Amino acid sequence: MTLPVAGAADVSRPRSVLDLVGNTPLLRLRRFERADGRVQLYAKAEWKNPGGSVKDRAAAAMILDGEQKGLLGAGRTVLDATSGNTGIAYAMIGAARGYPVKLCMPENVTPERKRILRAYGAELVLTDPMEGSDGAIRRVREVYQADPERYYYPDQYSNPANWKAHYQSTGPEILAQTDGGVTHFIAGLGTSGTFVGTGRFLRERAPHVQLVSVQPDTALHGLEGMKHMETAIVPGIYDATLADVDMRVGTEESYLLTKRLALEEGLLVGISSGAALAAGLRVADSLESGAIVMVFADGGEKYLSERFWEEPPEGSFVSGVN
Ligand code: PMP
Repeated sequence: MTLPVAGAADVSRPRSVLDLVGNTPLLRLRRFERADGRVQLYAKAEWKNPGGSVKDRAAAAMILDGEQKGLLGAGRTVLDATSGNTGIAYAMIGAARGYPVKLCMPENVTPERKRILRAYGAELVLTDPMEGSDGAIRRVREVYQADPERYYYPDQYSNPANWKAHYQSTGPEILAQTDGGVTHFIAGLGTSGTFVGTGRFLRERAPHVQLVSVQPDTALHGLEGMKHMETAIVPGIYDATLADVDMRVGTEESYLLTKRLALEEGLLVGISSGAALAAGLRVADSLESGAIVMVFADGGEKYLSERFWEEPPEGSFVSGVN
C-alpha cells in the first residue's frame, strides 16, 4: 500500500478533530439476514466518529452555530444536559477549540463515561439518578438562569442545529452509500436529532424510504441514550408526525442483540445499537426484499461495566431469530 505524501497542497488532510466527524462507514450485517439475502441489513457505524458516537455530528454543528451567531466565544463556557455521548462530544470539541465545558447528568451514568469526560477536562454536575435525564435538564436550566452571561447553552433538545447536522450529513451519506437503494431508515430516539434530521432529508430526496423511529417499551429501561416519549420531557425538536412507524423495543432483547453483535459480527457496540437491530429484524421479517439502514449510535466500551455482559449468552448462535 502506498501512503499519500503529506504536503501543503493536500487539502483533504484533516486539520483538527472536527474534520474527523462524519463520513462513517455503512456495514452489512449478513449474519442477521435471511439466507437469500433479499432483505439487506446495514449499520451506520457511528462509533467511528472521533468522540465515539453519533453525537459528534450534532455537538460540532451546535458549537459552530454558536460561534457563527456570536453566542460562543472566548470566556464563555459550553453548558448542557447530556446522558453522556453529547457531553463527550462537547468536551472533545471544547478542548480542541479552547472552551471550558460544564455538563449536568444523572449520577448513575457509567463510570467509564465520567472518566472520559474528565479526561477532556469537563466539569460534571451530577443529578439525582431517580430523575433520569429529565432531572439533568431541570438542573441545567437552573445553572444557566443563575448566570446566563457566563454560558453558551446550546440546549440540544431544542436546538435546530442538532437535527440539521443529520439533514446535512447523515442523510446524504446514507443515500450515497446505498446508491439510492435504501428502503427503510431506523434510528432510536433520544433528543430525536438523528431521526428527525436524517428522516427529513430522506423524505425530501427519497420519499419511498420508510422512516422507523425506535423507543424503549417502558418508562424504566436500560437503553441508555434513548427516551420513552410518553413519560419524558418531550424534546422541542421532536416531530412525532415524521415516522411511518414508531416501534417499541425491550431492554432484554436489546442486551441480547448487543451481545450477539459482538459474538457474531465482531461489532462491540452500545445498547441502543442492539435496540436498533431489534427493530430492524422486525421490519426485515415483514419484507420480501429491501435495504434497511439502522443507526448504530456508539461503541460498546463505555458499557463494559454493565452486568448483562456476564449473563450467559443464551440465544447467541441461535438461528432463525429473524
Ligand atoms: N443512542 C445513544 C447511545 C445515544 O447516546 C443517543 C443520544 N442521546 C441516541 C441513541 C439518540 O440520538 P439522538 O439524540 O440524535 O436522538
